[in-house]
Amino acid sequence: MIKDFAIVGGGIGGCSIAALLHAEGKEVVLLEKGSTLGGCASTFHHKGYAYNAGATTLSGYHEGGIVKRLFDTVGVTPQLIQSDVAIAILQGEKTCLRYQNLDRFIASLNAFYPHPKHEEFWRLIHTIGERFYAIDPTYTYSNRSLPKKLASLLTFFPLIRPFFPYLVTNARRFIERFYGEITAEYWDFLDAQLLIVAQATTQKVNFFTAALALGYTFKPTHYPIGGMGAVCETLTSKMRDVRTRCEVTAIKREKGIYHLSTSQGIIYARNVIMGTSHYESAQWFEEEAIQRYYQRYAKRNNHQSAFVVYMTFRSEGTFHHHYQLIADAILPLTLSQSLFVSLSDPSDTALSPQGHITLTASIHTDARMWLGLSPTSYHKHKKELHHVLQAWICATLSLPSDAIVASFAATPKTFGRYLNRTQLGGNAMTQSNLLPFLPANDTPIEGLYHVGDTAYAAQGWPGVVMGAFNCLKVIHERD
Ligand SMILES: Cc1cc2nc3c(=O)[nH]c(=O)nc-3n(C[C@H](O)[C@H](O)[C@H](O)COP(=O)(O)OP(=O)(O)OC[C@H]3O[C@@H](n4cnc5c(N)ncnc54)[C@H](O)[C@@H]3O)c2cc1C
Repeated sequence: MIKDFAIVGGGIGGCSIAALLHAEGKEVVLLEKGSTLGGCASTFHHKGYAYNAGATTLSGYHEGGIVKRLFDTVGVTPQLIQSDVAIAILQGEKTCLRYQNLDRFIASLNAFYPHPKHEEFWRLIHTIGERFYAIDPTYTYSNRSLPKKLASLLTFFPLIRPFFPYLVTNARRFIERFYGEITAEYWDFLDAQLLIVAQATTQKVNFFTAALALGYTFKPTHYPIGGMGAVCETLTSKMRDVRTRCEVTAIKREKGIYHLSTSQGIIYARNVIMGTSHYESAQWFEEEAIQRYYQRYAKRNNHQSAFVVYMTFRSEGTFHHHYQLIADAILPLTLSQSLFVSLSDPSDTALSPQGHITLTASIHTDARMWLGLSPTSYHKHKKELHHVLQAWICATLSLPSDAIVASFAATPKTFGRYLNRTQLGGNAMTQSNLLPFLPANDTPIEGLYHVGDTAYAAQGWPGVVMGAFNCLKVIHERD
């Protein structure tokens, strides 16, 4: 049977577009190399404990939010707990709790980072977010041809107009002018938060991007019960044809039909949607035009990636869902001075069995720092960084070493092995990396589409889901 759509990769992007197309009655097959869905947002088991592989925070699931819209459209409901504090930010002796409520957050900020301009600055951040989210998303981004692309860029005009001054101003310059003098510590505080959302710091992004990234916690953030992977499983639960442990090894086109060679045999489809990273996708195609298409974007690969520590410890203590630890300087073998630490909720029996808590902690690194190493250097560096991060986590959360039941780490190489990608976090939202430089969800190749964090719109649940909705629109336009 020839499928309408074959979707390669069951990450957030692949699962979202698969579920949306299935809800429209299309014949869809979702093909995932791993044993479970989710990719960077999956949950895996190791020696009896369950861990979130990468993503731990779900944002965009609130009335009017794009992730909620996705689940409502598909007709399924994920099991979530709203986090009271989105992130507890710990910098030396300072603590700042990112409450959703603006006044509570400003009070928390002023307790440790007092500044007379905070009130005005964070109200502006809040207002920009509110105005942005109130805009009806009628815009579409297409890359099918130059005229289509230009026409699609015009649809962004209503979005751009109200925010134009912020879009053309660098965030660092804007904040400097706004505040006057601010401490190096407060810069680090801002940059650490920006890095986890925009994948870049104040020097590289415009103020509009900075405002949306810094303000995301003013909307509810959620903890997924049963792990982030369960959210992707729920999303696709109504689909008939979801194949895990099904790796696509080659894709060719004959007479307008795509032939996908997979570890479970050949699949035929009229359209293919790649949910894999743009930087890795050329390897599955032989066709020159498709190779050329991917080459156009190869230079966008910033090789940013992640080093992740996974731990299980015994504890009856009470923790926030997420912490961001900020050090004085960038850590060796990384690109960052901040570590994002997420802990399982004690009520979540899948991730917190009988008095145990599981933890996923990630820090930005450069994939090239790991990929070219000899096996000896690789294991030495991995062990060193693992040790440093574990010690930092234990000191901050006051965990005695005998409480630790399991601890291991993943490098960009590990992600390469499991997910076929070493660049993680997708496209950084820098000033030189915004539309129209980004790949869209359609391509100039008939029947070939792309979703995920290396295509429009950006990384994380809201960004990738926005791309899936855009993908649906460009598919409708082509129909
Ligand atoms: C450490 C870390 C922490 C993060 N934290 C958060 C967070 O807290 N909140 C948040 O919203 N976002 C977070 N993100 C970002 C978010 O996880 C990603 O942007 C998002 O999950 C990317 O989804 P995707 O669909 O683009 O790709 P991926 O997750 O990479 O999915 C691609 C899928 O394709 C599969 N695949 C690859 N090759 C093949 C093949 N040949 N055949 C079949 N299948 C194949 C892979 O196995 C994978 O499952 C984090 C990312 C990382 C790395």
